[in-house]
Amino acid sequence: MPPNGRKTSAMSGSNDALDHLKATFAEISAINNAIAVLGWDQNTYMPPGGAAGRAEDLAALAKLAHERLTSRRTGDLLKAAQDHAASLDPASDDASLVRVAQRDYDREVKVPDALVAEIARTSVLAESVWRDARSRNDYPAFAPWVEKTVDLNRRLCECVGYPEQPFDALVDYTEPGMTTNAVRAVFDELRPHLVDLVGKITPQVDNVDDTVLHRQYDEATQERIGREVVARFGYDFNRGRLDRTTHPFETAFNRDDVRITTRYDSRFLSMALMGTMHEAGHGMYEQGISPALAQTPLTGGVSSGMHESQSRLWENFVGRGMPFWRFFYPTLQAAFLDSLGDVEMHQFYRAINKVCPSLIRVEADEVTYCLHIMFRFDLEIALLDGSLAVNDTPAAWNEKVRGYLGITPPNDTVGILQDIHWTTGLGGFQGYALGNIIAAQLWESAHQAHPDLPEQFERGEFGALLHWLNTNIHQHGRKFLPADLLQRATGSALSPQPYVRYLRRKYGEIYSL
Ligand code: ZN
Repeated sequence: MPPNGRKTSAMSGSNDALDHLKATFAEISAINNAIAVLGWDQNTYMPPGGAAGRAEDLAALAKLAHERLTSRRTGDLLKAAQDHAASLDPASDDASLVRVAQRDYDREVKVPDALVAEIARTSVLAESVWRDARSRNDYPAFAPWVEKTVDLNRRLCECVGYPEQPFDALVDYTEPGMTTNAVRAVFDELRPHLVDLVGKITPQVDNVDDTVLHRQYDEATQERIGREVVARFGYDFNRGRLDRTTHPFETAFNRDDVRITTRYDSRFLSMALMGTMHEAGHGMYEQGISPALAQTPLTGGVSSGMHESQSRLWENFVGRGMPFWRFFYPTLQAAFLDSLGDVEMHQFYRAINKVCPSLIRVEADEVTYCLHIMFRFDLEIALLDGSLAVNDTPAAWNEKVRGYLGITPPNDTVGILQDIHWTTGLGGFQGYALGNIIAAQLWESAHQAHPDLPEQFERGEFGALLHWLNTNIHQHGRKFLPADLLQRATGSALSPQPYVRYLRRKYGEIYSL
């Protein structure tokens, strides 16, 4: 400031620019929220015949949001706000807004609006084809849509650019600041530990019996129990709701309207119970974002890996842990007396933690789960760079499942057709494995801050853990790059070692390794 204390016109101009920028992003945010509502509806209540119309609506809205973000005016406002942002604490909301918005703008301005619309349209249409193809075990019917998705992804990567290889562009969308090789290095460090554990456990898989999970479980009671558990964890039903779907997900329109979905199987208790905990973990992340970040590019989770760390932490580290079941098993047992009346708590705990190489990713145990991700990561890179043809992918998939898990899918429905992801694009899997890894790092740090967490869980108290996650992760939204946020929360860089320690301790005990 000049000596007389008056703001220069340039300075006040910068503030004006920031205000205009916020107004612009509030409008973009409204369009994106409308897209999210339509997406939620598409996956819950929309009749199958609605796909074509919905595809056009979503394409138009995606194009509108993209046009607004990449307009010359937004670019000019960002430029005008830079000086003001530079005068602020880099960790402040306003400086972060300008930094993150500039990053989004710089990437998206290279992508034509028409490509954005085409990706949105294709995703809806491909999804309805995928649902049908999966139920009929008909990969050839879905293959042309995989071809189209891969082609659209290639064009996207060429538009936005990449440091080393095209897949880097997709990784950067979901894990800002990371590259393909950085993900691969983490996977390479983790893989031998998982292979070692699976090798030690496999000869004694039959020592743990999980057949009790496949007895009869009334669906309405499952829903009541699921709601009770996640409400106790801290998922706020006043700002959220739970619906049924075929492929469970969480979506947020703002921090006060965060929705989760689940699916029920009356002959498999874990699916809805653990699935609801998982989605509530995502939901509590969104419900915990600072209200000050609403309607800005800073709201929402920072990366797929960080988001998944929250869902996996509540589902597995808490929800498959002994302290939680010491508290909750009597309630569960009373609710399903016919099926669990003769099952004691340790037997149930071992059943929900049975390790066994299996075909379906979402039902995989904690030890084999990341292996499902690692081979999908390899396949996606090969699909994108063209070294693997779309028509050869089912065979390559089955080969990978044999190599990584020692089993062979009997058909494509439980093989390559099991995941919804290739309807929207490639690059959506690595976040799941990174989520497990990050969850273990956060778990260790939260326990260092609160050594009595296990005793709290045994009393049914989860507030201290949720508060720690709110303070260290949730409230910051997208303000910091994922690596920086992790460093701030744990004092460490991304490392699979805490996850390895967690798995070896827990499963070493269950399987007496
Ligand atoms: Zn998830």
